[in-house]
Amino acid sequence: MFDSLSDRLTGALKDLRGKGRLTDSDIDATAREIRLALLEADVALPVVRTFVDRIKTRAKGAEVSGALNPAQQVVKIVNEELVSILGGETRRIALAKTPPTVIMLAGLQGAGKTTLAGKLAAWLGKQGHTPLLVACDLQRPGAVNQLQVVGERAGVPVYAPQPGTSVGGEGEMGVSAGDPVEVARGGVEHARASHFDTVIIDTAGRLGVDDELMRQAADVRAATDPDEVLFVVDAMIGQDAVTTAQAFAEGVGFTGVVLTKLDGDARGGAALSVREVTGAPILFASTGEKLEDFDVFHPDRMASRILG
Ligand code: GDP
Repeated sequence: MFDSLSDRLTGALKDLRGKGRLTDSDIDATAREIRLALLEADVALPVVRTFVDRIKTRAKGAEVSGALNPAQQVVKIVNEELVSILGGETRRIALAKTPPTVIMLAGLQGAGKTTLAGKLAAWLGKQGHTPLLVACDLQRPGAVNQLQVVGERAGVPVYAPQPGTSVGGEGEMGVSAGDPVEVARGGVEHARASHFDTVIIDTAGRLGVDDELMRQAADVRAATDPDEVLFVVDAMIGQDAVTTAQAFAEGVGFTGVVLTKLDGDARGGAALSVREVTGAPILFASTGEKLEDFDVFHPDRMASRILG
């Protein structure tokens, strides 16, 4: 991801090299190139506009600094603005004052929620936490089982809706009801009683946004009062990521975003747009199917990667 954007941006900035001073028309020409590069990468139009306007204003107003030549100064500005649209500072996960910390995952089917649940659980375990996975995707056949497989791989117990189907638990860990809200509530209660300090709730997703999905996710949220609601979004879906994010922001609300499939060859626009469009910080990034293909999201590192 970002290869072509990276090439286009470095190409646009390369034209400035060797110039002793930059005229407004040099800056306008570079800004036009940057605009095209971002549009081609599928970045949402309002985000492109804001980004390019800020580059132009800052580059034209920049004082000539002793340490940097004009071209380097523009590169620095572009870098800073990239960091800014990606969220600025790294945002750490919010932990509850009194455990368990409840983390709910929401997003479309196929976004990578279940895979992420395992990655997050393994990561939390490595940080010294004692996570419990809760299987609330009762919509998709096999989803509960998939989470159990993921839990086993991550070495993390799974609270599941059917009695006796849990992994790593003692005896029957789970309720028989097929109601995701009850399962979520039961999972959090179980975590509290059995001293798990973090709970990750995997919820159902649909192929497209629909009212029932939203209602269900909103009900799970209301019943469990999570410390974090993470909107999981496939970075490969381009502009649709922004529309989907807006629908989830209205229907369920979320405190953070997880970008998945950043290893893919999409143009990266979703990754660059979602923070600015929703106002929610990107907390984590998934870069593959394996448990370890996962990391905390660092806006500055991502910006450096994009600028090559
Ligand atoms: P869910 O429906 O949201 O729970 O999505 P899943 O976790 O089942 O993931 C859907 C598909 O995407 C599976 O085939 C996963 O292996 C795959 N997947 C998940 N995350 C990533 C990722 O970061 N990169 C890649 N390449 N594939 C991923």
